[in-house]
Amino acid sequence: MAMTPRNAEYTKEYNRKAFLRLLRSGPLSRAEAARRTGLTRSAASLIAEELLAEGLIVETSATETKLGRTPVPLALRPDAGYAVGIYLNRDGCTAGIVDICGNTVSQQRLRMGDWDVTNKIERLVECIRGMLADCQLPRERLAGVGISAPGPLDGESGHILNPPKFPLWNNTKIGPILEAELDMPVYLENNASCLARYNLGKPEARGSESFLLLLVDSGVGSGVVINGKLLKGAGYFTSELGHTSINYRGKRCACGNIGCLEAYAAIPNLLQGTGFSSWREVMDTVSFDKLAGKLMKLEAEYLSAGIVTMCNLVSIDTVLLAGDLLYGADTFAPLLEKHVNARSLRREMLPVRVLPSKAGADALIGAAADIAFDRYLMV
Ligand SMILES: [Zn+2]
Repeated sequence: MAMTPRNAEYTKEYNRKAFLRLLRSGPLSRAEAARRTGLTRSAASLIAEELLAEGLIVETSATETKLGRTPVPLALRPDAGYAVGIYLNRDGCTAGIVDICGNTVSQQRLRMGDWDVTNKIERLVECIRGMLADCQLPRERLAGVGISAPGPLDGESGHILNPPKFPLWNNTKIGPILEAELDMPVYLENNASCLARYNLGKPEARGSESFLLLLVDSGVGSGVVINGKLLKGAGYFTSELGHTSINYRGKRCACGNIGCLEAYAAIPNLLQGTGFSSWREVMDTVSFDKLAGKLMKLEAEYLSAGIVTMCNLVSIDTVLLAGDLLYGADTFAPLLEKHVNARSLRREMLPVRVLPSKAGADALIGAAADIAFDRYLMV
């Protein structure tokens, strides 16, 4: 039967999922859950009783205050749901299983050395099946698979389109193929976008609700959150700051544009012909090596040109660094912040902060798994 908003079964499911969605951000009392979902107190209590009986949530202890006992808060049980998270990028693949409270249950770094277009799906499926078998999770508690990959991609059809220098996965309908193989929903999203949404509300974002997540490794990716919502446009596409031009007569980029930020600021492009092989090596020697110092400054100049364009298009107050730039961020972030604010139109009124994001290996998988939880809990 089609689930339409007029359908009572749909309404019930919608309210249950709205309740679970709210609890993903932390414990809440029944009254607070009612207020935030717009349900009556009795309807919220009824849903809470059902979810308690099904073992999806628990009551945590009330606390004593000067005004008396606080209402008993409800919290999600970590085993209420699980999702598989897959983080794909040009350097490889990290896969894992994450519970609904964000704890990583299993994690693997996959070497893609012998993967090719004929065996890549088989290898990925093998890995996911292996992890699911090892963890022995109840099938009905699996929300699905979330895949984060470099853009451009079409999240609606689960199709990785033509990300530059990503030949292994170019033009791959990864969503429908994996769905058929694994018999569960598979969701696809741009990796910078899902990392941006993952950082919303985390301490690393320092309360910002309008920020840019800048993912720099062998490419330059961007995810933009404005007023607490991930920015998405026509055709489900998101921002591609790496493919905005910082030099109209510059280098030809693999995307077809000229002078793209990525053509200069992606780490392999920055380091080409310098003798340095990684950003880590640059930052390890920056205090005594002149060339390393020059490269760090150059990277700050390139990125600030792109970031200021983004600030002028949409008003952001924070830039969160992810990818290779997390290494040595204590030194690099203040330098980049200085360059950005020196060029920013709004530096007097709204100076931009540059901070490291929450983006370690757990965060990469957690952000990918969140794609599945978010979609699953939308009904
Ligand atoms: Zn480009």
